[in-house]
Amino acid sequence: MEFELKYTKAQEEFRDEVRTWLAANVPDGITARPRSFQESQAIYRMRRELGRRLGAQGWLYPSGEKQYGGGGLGLDQIIVLEEETARLGLGLPPYYDSGGKMGSASIRVWGTDEQKQRFLPPIYRGEVRSWQLLTEPTAGSDLAGVKMTAIRDGDVYVFNGQKIYIGSHHGADRYWTIAVTDPKGKRHQNVSWFMIDANLPGITTQPLYLLSAQSEGETDEHGHKNIIYFDNVRVPADCLVGGENNGWKVASTHLEVEHSGQGNIRTNPVWIALLAHCRTHNRDGRPLIEDPDVRSKLAEIFSRLEAVRLLSTRNFWMVYAGEKRSYQGSQVSYLRKTTNLWLTKAILDLLGPDALTNDPILGAVGGIAEAQQRRGIVEQHPGGTTDIQRVVIARRLGVGAREPQQAGKLGEEGMARKNPQPVDA
Ligand SMILES: Cc1cc2nc3c(=O)[nH]c(=O)nc-3n(C[C@H](O)[C@H](O)[C@H](O)COP(=O)(O)OP(=O)(O)OC[C@H]3O[C@@H](n4cnc5c(N)ncnc54)[C@H](O)[C@@H]3O)c2cc1C
Repeated sequence: MEFELKYTKAQEEFRDEVRTWLAANVPDGITARPRSFQESQAIYRMRRELGRRLGAQGWLYPSGEKQYGGGGLGLDQIIVLEEETARLGLGLPPYYDSGGKMGSASIRVWGTDEQKQRFLPPIYRGEVRSWQLLTEPTAGSDLAGVKMTAIRDGDVYVFNGQKIYIGSHHGADRYWTIAVTDPKGKRHQNVSWFMIDANLPGITTQPLYLLSAQSEGETDEHGHKNIIYFDNVRVPADCLVGGENNGWKVASTHLEVEHSGQGNIRTNPVWIALLAHCRTHNRDGRPLIEDPDVRSKLAEIFSRLEAVRLLSTRNFWMVYAGEKRSYQGSQVSYLRKTTNLWLTKAILDLLGPDALTNDPILGAVGGIAEAQQRRGIVEQHPGGTTDIQRVVIARRLGVGAREPQQAGKLGEEGMARKNPQPVDA
């Protein structure tokens, strides 16, 4: 059995087309590490502009239906787009858009035709960025325990409450959120799902810097999160998705996408940086790469990261080909998180105390080694902790239960139709 992908001639031709397009459209400096808030803003603007250009091509959300501004592409092409953007150190979308990636899937399954027409095109064309607002101070792993209320008042819902650990830098235009619409209702039957305008009166945002924040200029989701307060926020009733008190089912779709490991098929950038470092730096007058202990550790690091990459690629295929999934999403999430934590110690073994500082002169691998020490810890939590992934795996395998639990609904066809436009034809 061969794990590694093999590509068809048509895929390679599509790859050439994508590479040429990216070479012409990706500006220099877009993956630079910002050293100030101004630099971070400039890079973010570049990323949003690239997003809009990708959107115009239908490549920002390639699996999205064409009628809503997506690419209408099949797995054969989607994977090439993912790989080619990853090769440049970028993702799809090239900016943090957790709500867009997961929220658009929920709309495809649960939204009305009118909602699909209203909500999907701006996301697919890169005109808006959206965040998911799920976690509350007393409801993280136990999402069904949310306390934020959304009480119907005529043709609006009035929101009051608080969400935490949300989004990243530079704001968002839309929020996907879950709130209690029936305070007296039973657990799981008392919540509803909404897509709301992030600029409504009564919403305030307070930054929250995590252990993994490198500086105020951090651009990605790792360091900069937010607490978002809702104070009598009046949300039009047509922003309710999937029906009143049906939010738990919509959330299951959303979480299924989050747990199923879509995307993230790239080689871990920390591995690329470590290898380059060991090839170009000396210890005791000898290149690090010539030290047998270094080689042995690098081989171990590669083996573990490669196992995660290959399983992520399998999940990517399952999601976008509409294959039936069970425990696989949580399996990869669990392995990725535990491997990232293990990596902190492995890097320390490999590079010694230089891995503990981000000093511009002393810090190993341009500060990447030190950042991994902090990120490895923080990454244990988002998208379900390692404990929760184990709970999900056990339930899906049917361990300790009569029936294995089913995966959340992703629609009859999953994220994409199977080869809707056969590229070999
Ligand atoms: C970097 C980062 C990004 C994030 N991004 C977002 C975001 O964009 N939007 C958003 O809504 N949220 C976000 N979160 C929040 C994240 O989803 C929560 O941190 C996570 O769900 C855990 O919730 P909690 O922090 O309240 O911990 P808790 O749920 O309080 O858990 C505390 C501990 O108890 C364990 N535990 C809990 N329940 C069980 C159980 N049933 N069995 C065994 N062990 C259990 C957990 O594993 C954990 O170790 C982010 C968090 C981080 C760190």
